[in-house]
Amino acid sequence: RTVYVNGVFCPETEAVVSIFDRGFLFADGVYEVTGVLDGKLIDFSGHMARLRRSLAELELREPAQEDKLLSIHRQLVEKNDLVEGMIYMQVTRGAADRDFLFPADDTKPSLVLFTQSASLRDKPAAKTGLRVVTVPDLRWARRDIKTVQLLYPSMAKMEAKRRGVDDAWMVEDGCVTEGSSNNAYIVDAGGTLITRPLNHAILHGITRKAVLRLAAESGLAVEERPFTVEEAKVAREAFITSASSFVLPVVEIDGTTIGDGRPGEIATRLREIYIDEALKTAV
Ligand code: PMP
Repeated sequence: RTVYVNGVFCPETEAVVSIFDRGFLFADGVYEVTGVLDGKLIDFSGHMARLRRSLAELELREPAQEDKLLSIHRQLVEKNDLVEGMIYMQVTRGAADRDFLFPADDTKPSLVLFTQSASLRDKPAAKTGLRVVTVPDLRWARRDIKTVQLLYPSMAKMEAKRRGVDDAWMVEDGCVTEGSSNNAYIVDAGGTLITRPLNHAILHGITRKAVLRLAAESGLAVEERPFTVEEAKVAREAFITSASSFVLPVVEIDGTTIGDGRPGEIATRLREIYIDEALKTAV
């Protein structure tokens, strides 16, 4: 694989980042994962807008302008013949003597990108649905900033694996915040789509934004409010969204079957229209 590190494209085995990089020592950095379909980037400008917001919240310098970052993304797709998968981009505060205080403003941020080939359109889980368990949400209180401190979500996913299921839904004050790496939704008995509102409690998903717009355009009632685990267990449908999974149905929560145990109609339709639109608007 050809990767990008601080201004150069090189083989992954030759890419080097300092051991003093604050991303490594303090998880002092942010990232974005952009989906790729037919060699094109899905909602690139959405990911860039969120990146700028994450950087601003942490007083991190922008590593390059949007057009330059787009060009790097496109070159990586080309150099790796990437047809379908993801591009990972990470910006950290760069290398400096280890100190809790941020280093001087002229410290150069580190910028790293790599591709990951994956089948996004044809996912077995789209037909079978995901099974999830709930775990307490023990992450920090600024989940709206897309930082690289992913240890707790990683532990939550390991817990799900130990319990023989696909993913974990994290719970705070009785309500579902989100999945380990995705936003969470239910459809109630009346057909209303329910998902948590945007604040510091969850990541502001780029896919979430698109899917909520598509849901409203297709006439669905949408309510942005927290929902309880009990509500989720008696929901008609449940599903998740993310840049790499698009929309995937959830068919079991803590051993309770959702609906008839098969992917819901609404989740399935939203997945189709999301992919249609992604293909039409990718750049
Ligand atoms: N929530 C969390 C905690 C995530 O890690 C992700 C994916 N990175 C999402 C939601 C989904 O966001 P997006 O649709 O932008 O991929």
